[in-house]
Amino acid sequence: MTNEDLIRSHVQAIWLAESGLSLGASLKDLLDLSDSSKLSCLDFVQDSLNSQGNRTKAKLKAHAALSDIESELIQTDWWNEGWLDSVLSQIDLQFNQACERWRNLYRAAMNQLEVQHKIIKDASRSIQDKRQAERLYQEAKSQLELLTEAENIVQSDFYSYRYFASEGFLPGYSFPRLPLSAYIPARRIRSQDDEFLSRPRFLAISEFGPRSIIYHEGSRYIINKVNLPVSDTGEGFAVLRAKQCPICGYLHPISNGDGLDRCERCGSLLEAPMNNVFRLQNVSTKRRDRISSDEEERLRQGYELRTAIRFADHGGVISARNAEIHFQGKLIGKLTYGNSATLWRINLGWRRRANPQQYGFILDTERGYWARKEDDQTTLEADDPMSPRTMRVVPFVEDHKNCLLFEPSEGLELEQMASLQAALKNAIQVEYQLEDSEVAAEPLPSGDERHSILFYESAEGGAGVLRRLVDDPDAFARVAAQALQVCHFDPQTGEDLRHAPNAKEDCEAACYDCLMSYYNQMDHRHLDRQTIKEYLLQCSQSTSTSSPQTISRAEHCQHLLNLCQSDLEREWLTFIEKSNLRLPSHAQLLLETCHTRPDFFYEQEHAAIYVDGPHHIYPERQQRDQTQKDCMEDTGYTVIRFDLFESWGKVIEKYPSVFGLLGS
Ligand SMILES: [Zn+2]
Ligand SMILES: [Zn+2]
Repeated sequence: MTNEDLIRSHVQAIWLAESGLSLGASLKDLLDLSDSSKLSCLDFVQDSLNSQGNRTKAKLKAHAALSDIESELIQTDWWNEGWLDSVLSQIDLQFNQACERWRNLYRAAMNQLEVQHKIIKDASRSIQDKRQAERLYQEAKSQLELLTEAENIVQSDFYSYRYFASEGFLPGYSFPRLPLSAYIPARRIRSQDDEFLSRPRFLAISEFGPRSIIYHEGSRYIINKVNLPVSDTGEGFAVLRAKQCPICGYLHPISNGDGLDRCERCGSLLEAPMNNVFRLQNVSTKRRDRISSDEEERLRQGYELRTAIRFADHGGVISARNAEIHFQGKLIGKLTYGNSATLWRINLGWRRRANPQQYGFILDTERGYWARKEDDQTTLEADDPMSPRTMRVVPFVEDHKNCLLFEPSEGLELEQMASLQAALKNAIQVEYQLEDSEVAAEPLPSGDERHSILFYESAEGGAGVLRRLVDDPDAFARVAAQALQVCHFDPQTGEDLRHAPNAKEDCEAACYDCLMSYYNQMDHRHLDRQTIKEYLLQCSQSTSTSSPQTISRAEHCQHLLNLCQSDLEREWLTFIEKSNLRLPSHAQLLLETCHTRPDFFYEQEHAAIYVDGPHHIYPERQQRDQTQKDCMEDTGYTVIRFDLFESWGKVIEKYPSVFGLLGS
């Protein structure tokens, strides 16, 4: 159990116990509901979050708990000496982030309450409008009750402790993180059992998609409505615009004008923006006894979904590491890894639709109803009458995942890309002993245009695996060899073994032992293991060179060398480069809080490197060094000093999470 998120949640649970803070029955016991624009923490909660005493007590307890698994922690690539301090210093931030989903639900319900109340009071509106508004008003009231109920808390999704667990702040429950909710109205008026169903966001975009059908306790419900989000100004309807790179799939949200002309990541020309992109939040359903055969067929074919990626950026610079894969001196592929990159999953429309060029669904922007047919705005459904205010919108959900992009250097055929995607996904799972659901793989920019393969860690437990493929110079070759084996080839000779060891029948193109799985049914017709044998053989004999930036290792190394201020620093950097260890992300970077400019800096690992010359043996210099070190360590950095050349290897071996493994 050395998943960072999981251990963080355990530390947060220790903090909660030590602080003595009670989370009450629902978040109404924690937040100030008098100002619904803020919904900030009540004073006693905020005091608890800020208390230095609570953090100190929690640190002692957590330190003792973690010491049992320290030998395992050291093996991971996220653990360092400052980790516990940084988790505790972020308690306030994490707690408030965890409250956000509840805040959004609460605000949306309050908004619905106000908007419908206005319609009820508006003398100019028709009787029908008012009746409808009355119904929506009651629905909002009912949702608010669910969010704030104090009775029957054990059953409630919004019982504070369960809620904080489902948001990942507390451990111990296997609730999906950051889910979306669907409101299921009570079946009979007399039985007060309205409910919310939850789904992880990436499933919700289709399962809770416009006019999708869900089954719950033997009944069928149609997603007929969204709980409208409130725009920043509190008025109007919130939609976004974005461009997706047609070559690499990179996402560019647009904040003003028509946005960029070229892709920030690969420089390709961008096309016209996607307008009216709509963040799908929580939805409502109503019971539906029958569906037509036409609807049934449309549901069976499902939606056209697309994924777009955006790496985190720091001050306009894309924060991602890359590795180049070489075979006999030739570049054959590129890997790019980013921690908690932003992923959008976009629902472009039904697969079966009148005009494939037209994206999105018609939404009633006042009442939140989805139009019954995407190409017919006027169709009225008996009790979901649309208001005149409608808009065609493209729903999406957002999540943050650790992501790896793989781009072969030479364009491969669609069949090869589809087969490679399945082979590498399965190989990663075998190599790192993961379940089928723990790593997800998708083509970018789309299923028809496959230029690269996106892998992301879809479940807890896979943390850190994808990053190893970039950081460990042998990892990709090992995974490729594993992929050959998955595809029934001898990884050394390439000989076709025809089937999996225990299988009786031969496998021609693909079978459930190699490339096919429940998750890639849409790809089954493209899969052919024979088409990727040669490429995988090259990959299995490749070497990879990594760089902590988006530029290549050679370019990055030259950039660092240019910044070096002494021969000793250059010598150290050359040593790291020649040993194929991880390169620092920066040289001579000023860390203002401690007034120091370490020789090198590893940004992601929070490690500062000093390569000391002979003058560091003077006592007053040592004193200054120590003061700096204390300050850095208090701020959460790891300070690593290199003195005599003979001991460099020893120092490096002490910090595998920073440098990687020597001699690998
Ligand atoms: Zn691009
Ligand atoms: Zn097979």
